[in-house]
Amino acid sequence: MTRFTRWGLLLALAAIAGCRADTKPAPSELSKQATHDLDRASMDPSVAAGDDFFRHANGTWLKTTAIPPDRGSYGIWYVLSDQSQQRTRALLEAAPGQAAEGSDERKAREYFASYMDEATIEKRGLAPLRPTLDGINAITDRRMLARWIGQSLRADVDPLNATNFYTDHVFGVWIAQDLNDPSRHAPYLLQGGLGLPDRDYYLEPGEEMERIRSAYRTHVVNVLKLVGIADPMGVAARIYDLERRLAAAHWTRTASADVAKANNHWARADFDRNAPGIDWAALLDAAGLNSVPTFIVWQPSAITGIAKLVESERLSTWREYLAFRVVDHNAGVLPKALDDEGFSFYGKVLTGTPQQQDRWKRAVNTTNAALGQAVGKLYVERFFPPEAKARLKTMVASIVTAFDHRIDALTWMSPKTKASAKAKLATLNVGIGYPDVWRDYSNLEVVRGEAFENAQRAALADYRYQLGKLSRTPDRTEWWMDPQTVNALNLPVQNALNFPAAILEPPFFDPAAPAPLTYGAIGAIIGHEISHSFDDTGSQFDATGRFVNWWTPEDMAHFKAASAKLVAQYDAYKPFPDAHVNGTLTLSENIADVAGLSAAYDAYRALGHATPDGDRAFFLSFAQAWKSKWREPLARQLLLTDGHAPDEFRADTVRNLDGWYEAFGVKPGERLYLAPPDRVRVW
Ligand SMILES: [Zn+2]
Repeated sequence: MTRFTRWGLLLALAAIAGCRADTKPAPSELSKQATHDLDRASMDPSVAAGDDFFRHANGTWLKTTAIPPDRGSYGIWYVLSDQSQQRTRALLEAAPGQAAEGSDERKAREYFASYMDEATIEKRGLAPLRPTLDGINAITDRRMLARWIGQSLRADVDPLNATNFYTDHVFGVWIAQDLNDPSRHAPYLLQGGLGLPDRDYYLEPGEEMERIRSAYRTHVVNVLKLVGIADPMGVAARIYDLERRLAAAHWTRTASADVAKANNHWARADFDRNAPGIDWAALLDAAGLNSVPTFIVWQPSAITGIAKLVESERLSTWREYLAFRVVDHNAGVLPKALDDEGFSFYGKVLTGTPQQQDRWKRAVNTTNAALGQAVGKLYVERFFPPEAKARLKTMVASIVTAFDHRIDALTWMSPKTKASAKAKLATLNVGIGYPDVWRDYSNLEVVRGEAFENAQRAALADYRYQLGKLSRTPDRTEWWMDPQTVNALNLPVQNALNFPAAILEPPFFDPAAPAPLTYGAIGAIIGHEISHSFDDTGSQFDATGRFVNWWTPEDMAHFKAASAKLVAQYDAYKPFPDAHVNGTLTLSENIADVAGLSAAYDAYRALGHATPDGDRAFFLSFAQAWKSKWREPLARQLLLTDGHAPDEFRADTVRNLDGWYEAFGVKPGERLYLAPPDRVRVW
């Protein structure tokens, strides 16, 4: 439930095939505003606010800004990410010897330096891959295959916090509080195994999808050739065919987001009965999960379908597939020819980005992925003053209060449902800047010059760290995002929020800016995250994080009717003539946008010195937070896979607030005008 999963998605893609994340230093015209005012130069007054608010606020910028060649998109969020990356680079480039031997800081610097050391990576060639490829070649029966799949599993998905459903491992694992029992952790098991981002890429008809499929098959051939596999065409055809069958078993992205469908508790013994075809004892033993009594199986029919394929497909095809997956996943820490091949498909074809980003940026991203909190600790010591934390705390409290008053003011909600909603709000745990307790990385060995092995060890150490949680009670203050990440999170099972230090920066949070600007930007972000606790998904979790219905049937019916109006509003947005926004897939985010903006607006007005100018600044500040441009292939990919609507339509959230109509004199007949009964008020 991030506000901006896109970033996370790109980082996830980066982790898959060698850091294809998406960053670039800020061109000067977009560097941090020093004026503590709106970015008036970006506006286009020739576009009426009521016709196209996104272009009214950002039109000149859109016309005059080019997306840098090494990225798929660009905007304010990226400027802040650039800032965070550059700061992080400076922290990591300090000589490793300056940090104590064995310290987490030393490990982070060694990890970064090893990733940067392309000469050593080139010199070592394919040698680091050999033990893994030999292991795969030695698989001679289904039991060994099950063991191999089990020992390759990593904690690489997160269906509730980051809404990351993608893994190229055969299954994805997530360890978190049990949906039905706040007193314990459970392992969540998700579908996986695809090289392309989603099942739709394999199964949907259409010229564009056909083009991507064909390019992907060529990519597989190219990788196999670079590794010296005989008959690369034949092998690639079999690998693709297996992936297509896996895709056919997969749930859609929209179905995967439905927690009620996903809340399936399987006892250990249920696996053999419900998903025959895999030697589950071997798999779970190799995965370190054999003594776990109960699992949450997120997409049961997909797990069943994948298990069937483990039995029915030829062992030799599985070996070919697994070998390819390992190479493709690790291209960023393998010789340049493989790295370039990875970018040419995942970067150029899948996101439309023409140029690979600089190595140091990818090194920052992978180091963050491996040792995020070790880096984060250094980051906040340097860049997050205690005053900022104190100020944000006050602001969060003011928006929580505004939200609480909005609950009181709902005319349709029964006192019983209101009491449950207010109890949930009252116990919300808000993390600002960084975690109170830092994770330590003593279980991770980092060796200078071993970029490939470091990456393997880091993913395994993280998996073991996550497994360790199974013997502990859940911690509501646990963080799921690093302080140096420009994003924010709502954590449904913890009833908690994370606001990392790196998003608490101008222009989102500028202590010197007037209140309307601050409340329109970071205020709306805070309101958005609070509102996720009450969106179509969040509203199904109670104050303790239990997945349970606390609504009266009548109240739920009203909530669903309001939600349906919002689905229709977003379904009508068409970023391309042949493609529209998926109002159902993006519903949670859209509810959070509408409710969050409303709460931030109320909190700003409650300060007591609202003016017409201030109101306009509030809404413009909000729309300017969404200033961005996207390359078409990436934008199309996100329409299929991202729970967020495109940024320009997020800016149009304003059309649901009466205050916006008053501030800009919006009249019937203008494109964004909604008659009062059509404006959606969910909270
Ligand atoms: Zn969100």
